Amino acid sequence: MKVTFMMMKSVCPRIPIVHLGPGNIYLAERPCIVTTVLGSCISVTMFAIRLQLGIICHGLLPTCNESSCPTNCTAGARYVDCSVLQMLKALYRMGARRPEIKVKIFGGAEMLRPVNGSNDSINVGRQNIISACRAIERHGLNLSASDIGGNWGRKILFYTHTGDVFLRRIGNGPKTSCGPYLRRRSPGHENVAQGRDASW
Ligand SMILES: [Zn+2]
Repeated sequence: MKVTFMMMKSVCPRIPIVHLGPGNIYLAERPCIVTTVLGSCISVTMFAIRLQLGIICHGLLPTCNESSCPTNCTAGARYVDCSVLQMLKALYRMGARRPEIKVKIFGGAEMLRPVNGSNDSINVGRQNIISACRAIERHGLNLSASDIGGNWGRKILFYTHTGDVFLRRIGNGPKTSCGPYLRRRSPGHENVAQGRDASW
């Protein structure tokens, strides 16, 4: 009976759900499921394994140009690059160490097609991907999974106490990876989307 009870408990956990809006970072001091919907925006999730502590951002734009950035940035969490830094600082303050932080990134869809021959260098989704991948590389972090690019939206669920992310795509088609955007090629980066992350 005890085993059955525990199984039921794990299947139906009473975990609060938090809806994360654009331009925000959420540090989960208690276990919860953070959900957010992404178009061209990027969510970076970090999970400090030993502390079982998760943090997630929902950044809208690639690069912060605030004069106060990066030491005391007043731009909040609108920008992908300084959001990554703020998340890291928050985890370090909680006692996390860099090698034990698992990082995943999601989003960066190309939601608007180029108009009248305008080139895609202005595409926000792609710029957000580049910014996220390079920030992760710059800070020497381990990227363990990604689902980025394409031209569809995504809804994600981040389990802050396990680091798992479940994802539902809104649309279909090919996606991309961090590989092409890294300055230093690393063989592990091409297949990062495979792993425990699942569709639902
Ligand atoms: Zn900033």
